[in-house]
Amino acid sequence: ESNWAHVEMAPPDPIIGVTEAWRADPDPRKLNLGVGAYRTEEGKPLVLACVREAEAQLMADPNSNHEYLPIAGNAEFCRLARTLALGGDCPALQGGRVATVQALSGTGALRVGAEFLAAHLPSTAPRVVYLPSPTWGNHKTIFAKAGFQVREYRYFDAATRGLAFDGMCADLASAPRGAVLLLHACAHNPTGVDPSPQQWARILALAQEKALLPFFDSAYQGFASGDLDADAASLRLFVRSGLELVLAQSFAKNMGLYGERAGALSVVCKCKDTAGRVESQLKMVIRPMYSNPPMHGAAIAAKVLGDARLREMWRVELKGMAERIISMRRALYDALYERNVPGDWSFVLKQIGMFSYTGLSRVQCQKLVNKWHIHLTLDGRISMAGLSAQKAPYLADAIADVVA
Ligand code: PMP
Repeated sequence: ESNWAHVEMAPPDPIIGVTEAWRADPDPRKLNLGVGAYRTEEGKPLVLACVREAEAQLMADPNSNHEYLPIAGNAEFCRLARTLALGGDCPALQGGRVATVQALSGTGALRVGAEFLAAHLPSTAPRVVYLPSPTWGNHKTIFAKAGFQVREYRYFDAATRGLAFDGMCADLASAPRGAVLLLHACAHNPTGVDPSPQQWARILALAQEKALLPFFDSAYQGFASGDLDADAASLRLFVRSGLELVLAQSFAKNMGLYGERAGALSVVCKCKDTAGRVESQLKMVIRPMYSNPPMHGAAIAAKVLGDARLREMWRVELKGMAERIISMRRALYDALYERNVPGDWSFVLKQIGMFSYTGLSRVQCQKLVNKWHIHLTLDGRISMAGLSAQKAPYLADAIADVVA
């Protein structure tokens, strides 16, 4: 008798499952709108030219080796990554009061950050985290595994397919003092709905009033608008206010380094001395988890960020990805408009980033999958990166059919 005879089959991951179903679908018209990764107009993965070049340089270096990185990872990568997020003129950086460690992409940064907070928040602070409703599915599990009580704040307003701002403010105003507040820095996943600059200012004021600890998840810097600084504006507003906060960064999307797991975790502290002690404790979280992070992705990112020519190449290529996604919003909107599909679809243009939350019901989504071979998560989220100019009319035909 096996020790695992009683083990039950775990449910499939709702997002990964979409790609599996798409792969298995023999219909030539099939479309994968579940993917959380950039695709070209031809539906292919993209390796950025700046990344190819950085990689070639690394390979050609006769001094390269496969030694371990330190527990905190590639120090140059950490310095460049946090400067990219916070801005070169950031007072917290200049004051040396930011502790940064390399992380296993955004997910790893969130996990190490959550574990650090669970262990080291003041004993008087509640182990409670507020997540937007809805949010990226992994957030809940990551914080729950770290011992947090997970609560939600209102975020998406189904009626307007925009931000439920009043509800959000009311929920934050009733949060216990010292709770952790998870915020998507830009291009909220899955909704594509971000607060306006005025709304960010109000959220900051609420965080200050209630002594909430902001935890920024930045998975899409530069990928949302095409402008690295614009996409970091919310984070920088908070840091410049003098608040302490936590930042998880991912280079999966904006550098196309998905499987390389290149990310960083930063903790912005009140003073340099604290930052040093915090960094030492971040290492204590990492050591028993995976000892030290992988080298390759961080080395590529450090080269791209640190070399003026490669960095400029990256800026242009990143803008190109963002613009293709924005142009897909326009193509879909126009095609829906031409077909007189009932309802106000202007949200397709207003939402930002890789995803659009369509508000299509579960039944409508199932019809898209079964009848039209358009694969998506049944919450109605579609990836604009999975769309092409050629396929936009087909998607509009399908949506027209399922909403009729
Ligand atoms: N946060 C958000 C909001 C995301 O959308 C993602 C990627 N889907 C991540 C974090 C983490 O991605 P990764 O671990 O690949 O960097």
